[in-house]
Amino acid sequence: MKLEMKKEVKGIARDTLNFILAVSGDSHPYEFAGLLRAEEGVITEVLIVPGTESSEVSAILRLEMMPIDPSTIGTVHSHSSKNLKPSQADLELFARRGDYHIIACYPYGEGSWRCYDSRGMQRVLRVLDIEFKNKDLEEI
Ligand code: ZN
Repeated sequence: MKLEMKKEVKGIARDTLNFILAVSGDSHPYEFAGLLRAEEGVITEVLIVPGTESSEVSAILRLEMMPIDPSTIGTVHSHSSKNLKPSQADLELFARRGDYHIIACYPYGEGSWRCYDSRGMQRVLRVLDIEFKNKDLEEI
């Protein structure tokens, strides 16, 4: 398979999105961070960045320190406030780590998330009902 510079993503599996919201809620008031991996154009995996820190900056910095993984297409992290806007640190991360970046926020409900591109512009990410492959969670 040829490595593509830009990976097209059709959407995110509903179970993966629910997983992100659940982990974000479980982590509260700590903030959760991870990398997104897509399979056949659908985001189906979250690689969780280990460690717990109380501040968002730390969650973001941990993502920054991860080695570049060409199989990932972006990042996910949570905000413990109701704010879905990317911070300056978020924007710097987005510019370097792929083109799909999800922010989930308190209260971590169905609508408590947004997806951004590498420039921090909001982008549409469809939620797809597909078979869950039981490999959403992989410790790194
Ligand atoms: Zn943030």
